[in-house]
Amino acid sequence: MELFNTIIKDTNEKIAGITTKTWDYDATDCWKNLERSELIMQSDQAFELGGSGNPSANFTCVTTTTDLVPKDEIILCGKDLNELRGDVSFARVVLLGVKDIGDEDAAHTAIQQMDFVRYHVYPDGYMVRVSAESNQERVRVAREAVSKGISFKKIGNTYVKAYKENENVLSVRIIFLTDQELIRELNKTANKVSDITNALSHILDGIDTDCAHCALKPVCDEVEGMKEMHLGKKKKK
Ligand code: SF4
Repeated sequence: MELFNTIIKDTNEKIAGITTKTWDYDATDCWKNLERSELIMQSDQAFELGGSGNPSANFTCVTTTTDLVPKDEIILCGKDLNELRGDVSFARVVLLGVKDIGDEDAAHTAIQQMDFVRYHVYPDGYMVRVSAESNQERVRVAREAVSKGISFKKIGNTYVKAYKENENVLSVRIIFLTDQELIRELNKTANKVSDITNALSHILDGIDTDCAHCALKPVCDEVEGMKEMHLGKKKKK
């Protein structure tokens, strides 16, 4: 699975110059993960990440080229949760190094299983609202959580732990960005990731292989390996 490699390389390059902190994954330093989503009232919030109309972005990319995601780590670009004083722009990007999963159908199913984590981690005092349509993520952070020492390191560890429960996941890089110009651009990247994932679903649905009349042509023209995947799949049928 190398369809997202260009996006992963590009993202890694862009964050390299603005990284403020990195931490290796530490399973013993997770923030408490609840059974289900909790409601944090506005009156109890310290601030919202991606709130007050600030830009936000959320996307997940997988690759079998594990050199691109060499280890489990958490990266922060911008201020940490204890340093923020109000609503800011926000992005969470997840890069997953995965096993060679098999054919396209198996890969697609595996991607969906990995994406499940995106919506099913519920850190205490950290209410996540993801919009799959706009690829944005808003997080309401409770004042009590800030006073108890919530941090991106701990939240990141909680996410990495959840991803590593999937046996196909070899390495996880979680990138948090707060109050960065790059976040607007990353929202466009997130839309591109959605386009690729949607194109993959359509290809697996077995639609006709007439590129000249296909609505997905712009995506397939840009993403290396997409056309080969569809045409190769057609031959196998
Ligand atoms: S390979 Fe051609 S037909 Fe298949 S999805 Fe891409 S553009 Fe459409």
